[in-house]
Amino acid sequence: MSKGRLIIFSAPSGCGKGTMLEQILKDSRFRTSVSATTRAPRDIDVDGVTYHFMSREDFTAKLENGEFLESAEYCQNLYGTLLSEVDPYIENGINVILEIEVQGAMSVMEKRPDALSIFVLPPSMKELRRRLEKRGTEAQEVIEERLSKAAWEISHAEKYDYVIVNGPLEEAVSDFFAVVRGEELKASSMSETINEVLQNA
Ligand code: 5GP
Repeated sequence: MSKGRLIIFSAPSGCGKGTMLEQILKDSRFRTSVSATTRAPRDIDVDGVTYHFMSREDFTAKLENGEFLESAEYCQNLYGTLLSEVDPYIENGINVILEIEVQGAMSVMEKRPDALSIFVLPPSMKELRRRLEKRGTEAQEVIEERLSKAAWEISHAEKYDYVIVNGPLEEAVSDFFAVVRGEELKASSMSETINEVLQNA
């Protein structure tokens, strides 16, 4: 069985990546890694499902224990990808999506150069503000902080392999599958198939 692919999937907060992922995850070949975080749960959060919520002390202990593939501080909270959420699944042929911010993404790109990296853009900054305000989960001050963080993140989008604009949902989701399929068909990923064709004489 061939291994799964590691997919870095970054989008500024409020970009609608959650809605995109809901569609993508209907395909059982994909799973998202459940990150660890020190941020407070929101109403829609479920511990162990949306995040592994933990104290700063527990997070730091795991970090020192080498349990993270990457970690980063984002808006005063720690976030990190546990290795146990990634490698066992990749070994079993599952494509693992890391929903992570830019600093973590850069660190994974270095550590795992064969990871596929995708950045999701909002259609405009104006639309991003509208979506964040509509969500109503954060205070105005936090929204302003997330917007300026978003502008900084977007300025790094060109470091990723692919950029997808999350305008109409169906288009963005179909762009995601197109990108993954393109990767699967790269000559460098096709050696097994090439050998099979040659052997079937
Ligand atoms: P939120 O608090 O809105 O759920 O997430 C804030 C930011 O943290 C988002 O950009 C999200 O992608 C990022 N994030 C979530 N989990 C991780 C993680 O494990 N590592 C890193 N580096 N970023 C993460």
